[in-house]
Amino acid sequence: MPNKTVMTAEDMRRTLSRIAHEIVERTRDIRSVVLVGMQTRGVPLANRLASLITEYEKIEAPVGALDFSLYRDDLGRRNFNPQVKSTDIPVGIEGKVVILVDDVLFTGRSTRAAMDALIEYGRPKIIQLAVLIDRGHRELPIRADYVGKNIPSAANEDIKVKLAETDGADEVLISSG
Ligand code: 5GP
Ligand code: MG
Repeated sequence: MPNKTVMTAEDMRRTLSRIAHEIVERTRDIRSVVLVGMQTRGVPLANRLASLITEYEKIEAPVGALDFSLYRDDLGRRNFNPQVKSTDIPVGIEGKVVILVDDVLFTGRSTRAAMDALIEYGRPKIIQLAVLIDRGHRELPIRADYVGKNIPSAANEDIKVKLAETDGADEVLISSG
């Protein structure tokens, strides 16, 4: 099935810049923000948002990486071994504004698992969610606070998120079947 481009590199640059501005605008104490990337592609996205916040506000926003695979609710239901990646939360999150960052929001089950994994590290004041793409089809009462682009999708479609850090170039494609 052919791929259709839904976000170019230039679109992505503008989208991330807009989200970083929204985070700055809506966060009363921007110094209390900790960006936590959900493995895998949420991590480079969290790093990019942190660099932009540093550029706009001249402050260092800490960035962490979260592996939440052992908190999934489908562990043991599916015949698969989760690939456990690393978790690295470099600062305390107690009382902080933690923004979870992911590439695609779909059923919401990863976000639920990520929240469970995160609170092992402390009790943030607020947990928010930033995603590059919201493709719909939620199965839990979860929504994103910051959305790059809403892409209504059919269940059999797949959103391909390519990032320079992991895939050599920035691009989002949609493919069906
Ligand atoms: P959820 O748990 O909300 O169903 O799915 C979100 C997680 O699965 C995200 O971490 C995301 O990376 C991945 N995901 C779900 N659907 C897609 C998709 O269509 N494309 C990509 N690239 N990732 C997806
Ligand atoms: Mg993911």
